[in-house]
Amino acid sequence: MKEALKAFRSSFLDFVDDPFYISEDKSVRYIHDGLIVVRDGKVEELGAYENLQSKYAGVPTTCYPGMLIVPGFIDTHIHFPQMEMIAAYGEQLLEWLSKYIFPTEGKFKDKIYAQQVASIFLDELLKNGTTTALVFTTVYPESVDAFFEEAERRNLRMIAGKVMMDRNAPDFLLDTAETSYYESKALIEKWHKKGRLLYAVTPRFAPTSTDEQLRIGGKLLQEFPDVYLHTHLSENVDEVLWVKELFPNCEGYLDAYDRAGLVGDRSVFAHGVQLTDKEFQRLSAAKSAIAFCPTSNLFLGSGLFKIEKAKSREHPVKVGLGTDVGGGTSFSILETVSEAYKVAQLRRQKLSPFKALFLATLGGARALCLEDVIGNFDVGKEADFVVLDMQSTPLMAFRNSSSIPTSLDELVDKVFSLVIMGDDRAVHTTYIMGELAYERSSL
Ligand SMILES: [Zn+2]
Repeated sequence: MKEALKAFRSSFLDFVDDPFYISEDKSVRYIHDGLIVVRDGKVEELGAYENLQSKYAGVPTTCYPGMLIVPGFIDTHIHFPQMEMIAAYGEQLLEWLSKYIFPTEGKFKDKIYAQQVASIFLDELLKNGTTTALVFTTVYPESVDAFFEEAERRNLRMIAGKVMMDRNAPDFLLDTAETSYYESKALIEKWHKKGRLLYAVTPRFAPTSTDEQLRIGGKLLQEFPDVYLHTHLSENVDEVLWVKELFPNCEGYLDAYDRAGLVGDRSVFAHGVQLTDKEFQRLSAAKSAIAFCPTSNLFLGSGLFKIEKAKSREHPVKVGLGTDVGGGTSFSILETVSEAYKVAQLRRQKLSPFKALFLATLGGARALCLEDVIGNFDVGKEADFVVLDMQSTPLMAFRNSSSIPTSLDELVDKVFSLVIMGDDRAVHTTYIMGELAYERSSL
């Protein structure tokens, strides 16, 4: 039998508030020599080792000297069936979908195949320190079952849903408004809140759903108010023009979703690169979230997300980071942070290392309305966390001295080099509910 109580000693970094709005010395929590105590998979206590050592003297303790423990990374937008088409050459969004993605997604009607890919996909997430993700599957319910079965087996907190698409795609990928309703409803009843799993109503994007189908999505959200809405929004200029043609009565792209009842506080929209000011304001008022997917936006040439518009004081919008594999080029949230920083640089904006890491952890949890269960090390939260190695390559070891800094000021520089240079090699160990889920083999 597993011990109910276990402890981990290392350096700890997490966020207690949003550094975009609250100064970093108040929003960042850093414990140089800390101890986290886990009971039945949840955080029992976090504090300085010297203060807690006698209280938990008999508790089995795993030590990670010289490492940095952070909350598990949260990927707010990714496609599990697209991993085999990552790094497909030469196209922008609409052509890329037709040429590479639609044929690939067709394979997922075969549940055995979907199971195999789901297993590889979840291995890859854990290897990169990602412990929660909001995931596109395919139009086939079999692919949703395959994904959730594999996530349940690993006790992961995952959100996913069946893709709804009833036009502008090959016949083999189409459902209808009616079948998408019944299939989604059955999957919600089967999987939503089963263990740590949650369901998202998932129309692919406005161009592949009729107005009728979008309204069916709105109906599902009314019938099941605590499920999510997950879709794409305003990624690419040609796509935005196409939506204008397809929905001539709508004021803009977001309005096509809004009129169908899809814009609410549990709605997560991937990209938002081409949003107007008015659309940012509407997302703020509705408390919806955007998944910022920099590697994808750069790879597909979609554009540069305006982080400062989303994180404005006047009209704040919740933002998480998304890898958007296979439009995105890496499973690594650290690499995604690095590209987010560069996107901000091109717009003459500064994305500080702590702000970026916030987006990857507590910011992502807030975007997914999960801040009461994951995102930091507050007492009672689920103990999903990552042990990071700041010296994971010879160059990183050369860049960073061997000692972990004692002060926040010194830590900024180290964390910045980690998020800019780090990748899956920097992920030493990943824990799910306090249980070992991935351990890097020696480099
Ligand atoms: Zn996507």
